[in-house]
Amino acid sequence: MASIFTKIIKGEIPCYKIAENEQFFAFLDINPVQKGHCLVIPKKEVDYIFDLTEQEYIDLQLFARQIALALQAAIPCKKVATTVVGLEVPHVHIHLVPLQTLPFINFAAPRTAMSAQELKDTAQLIAGHLI
Ligand code: 5GP
Repeated sequence: MASIFTKIIKGEIPCYKIAENEQFFAFLDINPVQKGHCLVIPKKEVDYIFDLTEQEYIDLQLFARQIALALQAAIPCKKVATTVVGLEVPHVHIHLVPLQTLPFINFAAPRTAMSAQELKDTAQLIAGHLI
């Protein structure tokens, strides 16, 4: 069965998309730990990041870097944290989270409530800073 992220890539499930190319896709986490929390994924459905080929891994990181630079330009923060967890969704994803202090990336803490309009505006804001 296709992962929920494959369904998002195919447009079968809606998302707040930021960018895509032939191989990769970036969108907002639906339950953000902070405003601007992005997920960056390969279109190829692979569960575990270290099962990607070396080239796929490098290309994913380069794509994530483009999203992180746009995120940092769009959302005031000290740095953008990059994290891979993968315990919930078995489809490789890099979390990008705008960071002020360490508690900003507590994945176990209650998530930040954002309305559909706020999520839409945030995705557009980040996409608008892509180079
Ligand atoms: P992990 O697998 O790294 O533990 O966490 C998966 C992440 O995906 C969580 O932060 C969760 O909020 C996010 N997520 C799960 N389902 C969906 C979904 O349908 N849409 C979006 N945009 N994010 C999701």
